[in-house]
Amino acid sequence: MSMSVPEQVSKRRTFAIISHPDAGKTTITEKVLLFGQALQKAGTVKGKKSGQHAKSDWMEMEKDRGISITTSVMQFPYADALVNLLDTPGHEDFSEDTYRTLTAVDSCLMVIDSAKGVEERTIKLMEVTRLRDTPIVTFMNKLDRDIRDPIELMDEVEDVLKISCSPITWPIGCGKEFKGVYHILRDETVLYQTGMGHTIQDSVVIKGLDNPELDEAIGSYAEDLRDELELVVGACPEFDHDAFLKGEMTPVYFGTALGNFGVDHILDGIVEWAPVPQPRETEERNVEPNEEKFSGFVFKIQANMDPKHRDRVAFMRICSGEYKQGMKMRHVRLGKDINVSDALTFMAGDRERAETAYPGDIIGLHNHGTIKIGDTFTQGEMMRFTGVPNFAPELFRRIRLRDPLKQKQLLKGLVQLSEEGAVQVFRPLDTNDLIVGAVGVLQFEVVVGRLKTEYNVEAIYESVSVATARWVYADDERELEDFRRKCSANLALDGGDNLTYIAPTMVNLSLSMERYPDIKFAKTREH
Ligand code: GDP
Repeated sequence: MSMSVPEQVSKRRTFAIISHPDAGKTTITEKVLLFGQALQKAGTVKGKKSGQHAKSDWMEMEKDRGISITTSVMQFPYADALVNLLDTPGHEDFSEDTYRTLTAVDSCLMVIDSAKGVEERTIKLMEVTRLRDTPIVTFMNKLDRDIRDPIELMDEVEDVLKISCSPITWPIGCGKEFKGVYHILRDETVLYQTGMGHTIQDSVVIKGLDNPELDEAIGSYAEDLRDELELVVGACPEFDHDAFLKGEMTPVYFGTALGNFGVDHILDGIVEWAPVPQPRETEERNVEPNEEKFSGFVFKIQANMDPKHRDRVAFMRICSGEYKQGMKMRHVRLGKDINVSDALTFMAGDRERAETAYPGDIIGLHNHGTIKIGDTFTQGEMMRFTGVPNFAPELFRRIRLRDPLKQKQLLKGLVQLSEEGAVQVFRPLDTNDLIVGAVGVLQFEVVVGRLKTEYNVEAIYESVSVATARWVYADDERELEDFRRKCSANLALDGGDNLTYIAPTMVNLSLSMERYPDIKFAKTREH
C-alpha cells in the first residue's frame, strides 16, 4: 500500500549547504550522494581534473567553467528518511539564486574550513537563514590538515554568527596526526582511516571513553582526549533540540569531507533532529504540510537547462498535499488552471519524470515565460505564499545598447529577466539610464549573454556609482511623496515598478535614513 501524506512528510528532510567557497561544499555533496548510493563511486563533482561532470551541473557554461551557477536538487534515501539536498552555487560569483534557495529549505548544513574559521560568505548566508530562523547543523571540515584550535573555532562561530555551539563529536588530533572523533552523545570513538575517501567505510568504533582499547589504538592521545573532554563538556552547552529548531543552537561535528569521515555523522544528525517539512505562511493563512490539497511556491527559475530545448524550468517547493502526474493545478497569480503531466523530479541529480511528490520535495515545471519567482500553485484555493524575497543587490552596472534603436527590446528583456530572478533592473526617476543590480558578478555576464540569444540585443556595461539599494515604503502617502520629490536624484523604479533608493555610498544611505525617519528602507522585498 502506498504511504499517506503525513507518512511521506515525516520521512522528508530538505536542506541546503552554506559555506564560503573552497570550504568543501562540493566534496561533501559527493560524499552525501555516495551514502545515498546515488553514485556508485563519488567522482569529482566539479570535474576540474577528470573532465567528468557532476550530475548536479547542467548548464554548458558550468561545464566550461567547472563551476555551478545554478541551483540544483538531489533527492536520495538515507536511513529511514528521504533527503532533499538543494545545491547552491559554490563559486565566488554566486547569485540571488543562492539566497532564494535558502527560503525553500527547512534546515541548513554550515561547512567551515577548520584552518580558516568563519569566512565572509558564510556570514552573509547565515544572515539570510535568519529571515526564517532556519535550524543550522555545523561541520568543521578538513581535519586531515592542520587546523585552528577547535574551541577557538566554536567561539568564533558563537561570536560572529550569534549562535551557540554544542559539540556532538570531538576531534582527536589533526593533520597527519588526525586519529578520529569521539562521539559525545554515543560515548564512542570512531577511528579515522586514511585513503578511504571514495568508499563507505566500515567504521572502527571503540565503545566508552575509559576503554583500554582506546589507549591501545591511539596511545597518549587517549589520555589527552579524556582531559580535553572534561573541559569541553563542562564549558559547552548540552545539545538542546528546541534551541536548535529555533535556530539558536547548532550541533557541531568534526571531520574531513575529502576522507569521507564524519559525513555520516552529520547525516545521522540531520535525519534525527532536522525538522520535517514545516508549515508555510500565505497572505491568507498558515498551510500545514499534511493538508490533503496540494500547494507549492516557485523559488527559482532556470533558463536553458537543456540547451537543445532552450526550456525554462520553474523550481517549486511543495508545501502541502500530493503532486500526482497529470493533476490539475491552479496558477494563482493568473487565476488559471493547468494540467501538469511532465514535472521533473531530481532523484540523485537526474532529471526524471515524477509520478508523485510530497511536501519538502522540489519539482520542476516547464515554463514558457508565464511563471514568475514567488508564484503560488494550489488545487483551486486563491492564496499566496509569502517569504520568497528579492534581496538588495550589492553590485551595480549601467547597461547600454550598442544599437540605440533597440531600447524597447532591451527594457522588455531586462524586465523579463528580472521577473525570472536572473538580475534586477532599476530605472532612475531623473534620467533615462538603465541600471542592473546583482548579488554576484556572474549574473551580469549571464544577462548580457541571454539578452543576445533570447532578445537579439547587444548590450554593454559601464560602471556606475551606486553602492547599494533599498526598497522604500512609508505608512503615510504624503511623507513618501515628499521624500520622492526631495530625493528623486537617488530614486528609481525596479522591474516591478517598486520605488527604490539607490545610494551612491553607504554613508549617503545612513544619512538619508537619519534624515527621513518615517521612511522604511528595506533590504528585502517579497514578490
Ligand atoms: P567548495 O568550493 O566549497 O565546493 O569546495 P570543494 O569541495 O571544491 O573543496 C575545495 C578544495 O578543498 C578542493 O581542492 C577539495 O579537494 C579540498 N577539500 C575539501 N574537503 C577537504 C578535506 O576534508 N581535507 C582536505 N585536505 N581538503 C579538502
